[in-house]
Amino acid sequence: MSTSTTRPIPYGRQHITEADEQAVIRTLRSDFLTQGPQVAEFEQQFARYIGAEYAVAVSNGTAALHLCALALNVQPGQRVITSPITFAASANCVRYCGGEVHFADIDPATALLDLKAVRRLLESHPKGFFHGLIPVDFAGLPVNLEEARQLADEFGLWIIEDACHAPGGSFTDSHGNEQRCGSGQLADLAIFSFHPVKHIATGEGGMITTNRRDLYERLLLLRTHGITKDTAQLTRPDEGGWYYEMQDLGYNYRMPDMLCALGISQLKRAEEGLDRRRAIAALYDTAFANVPGIELLRANEGHAYHLYIVQAADRRGLYDFLRTRQIFAQVHYIPVHTMPYYQQLGWKTGDLPHAENYYAHCLSLPMFPALTDEEQQYVIESVVEFVNRG
Ligand SMILES: *Cc1c(COP(=O)(O)O)cnc(C)c1O
Repeated sequence: MSTSTTRPIPYGRQHITEADEQAVIRTLRSDFLTQGPQVAEFEQQFARYIGAEYAVAVSNGTAALHLCALALNVQPGQRVITSPITFAASANCVRYCGGEVHFADIDPATALLDLKAVRRLLESHPKGFFHGLIPVDFAGLPVNLEEARQLADEFGLWIIEDACHAPGGSFTDSHGNEQRCGSGQLADLAIFSFHPVKHIATGEGGMITTNRRDLYERLLLLRTHGITKDTAQLTRPDEGGWYYEMQDLGYNYRMPDMLCALGISQLKRAEEGLDRRRAIAALYDTAFANVPGIELLRANEGHAYHLYIVQAADRRGLYDFLRTRQIFAQVHYIPVHTMPYYQQLGWKTGDLPHAENYYAHCLSLPMFPALTDEEQQYVIESVVEFVNRG
């Protein structure tokens, strides 16, 4: 196949249909650009899809994390545990509130936060030393939140599930029940992003899901400046029709109506997209099963496949070779504790050997529902060609 005639293949790409375009145009022609009826509609439909009681639409996944940390009252000096193999925002939300981030190492078989390492960390400090846990459903593989919940209950922690990679993902708990990512059964809060590479793409956008009414109400207030117009909540309810109160220090983290309309339209294809991602993964799994120098991570049936990751003996070589073939594979992620910002806070390369070894070999191959069979075949052939060159 000639590279010059091949369209560049990214690792992830949004899929926008005519129905999506029409949904946005309808909203543009309506009375509402920002806080109109599409917001509540998207929240309700998303909550139903995820299986959670409440959903709060916000401006992006990072804002979702920040609001969660605020709603849980993260204070300066409080300590929160997360994974080093995630997007930096999973950790940064703790820093926004002045808290301390503690990274625990990953399980090399899955690249998920290793809950045994978390337990060791918890047990090596007095109870009350840590306040929260932010596990990440990395690449779309659901964290075992049943085990995480047991740890959290034992050590008095809250849990924010970073489910950005896993809408529609699930795992089977020890009672044989399906636990869907973000359903709020086990985590206090869960967050999602609608960045273009994610399952549901609205440009910018995010969602928080929860089953806790207290947190839900606090999130609504914090999302919009800490302001309420609800007469039942006002301290001076008789001041007049114009009256509102700012009761807490909040933000403008709202998601506009236009983008919620796009989200609703995209949500209709969520299951279809998930099936397609799983079919792509199954084909890669078979193709790479016996390729020397290419290793795969452990998966399960509920994997939502935001990313398809291989571990390559020569990752740098494979990355560069694929680029010459117009295949833009990517690395997820550079361990967060090796970022200069976190190194200034005392973290050192060498602190988390499994995460660092994973990073040395990981590569995310193209994985998105609109990837064609021909494109995927071309990716597979290119990887095999690289390996066979020796
Ligand atoms: C995308 C992502 C975020 C941040 O979402 P934005 O909408 O880009 O702010 C947070 N955590 C993870 C794991 C992500 O993949």
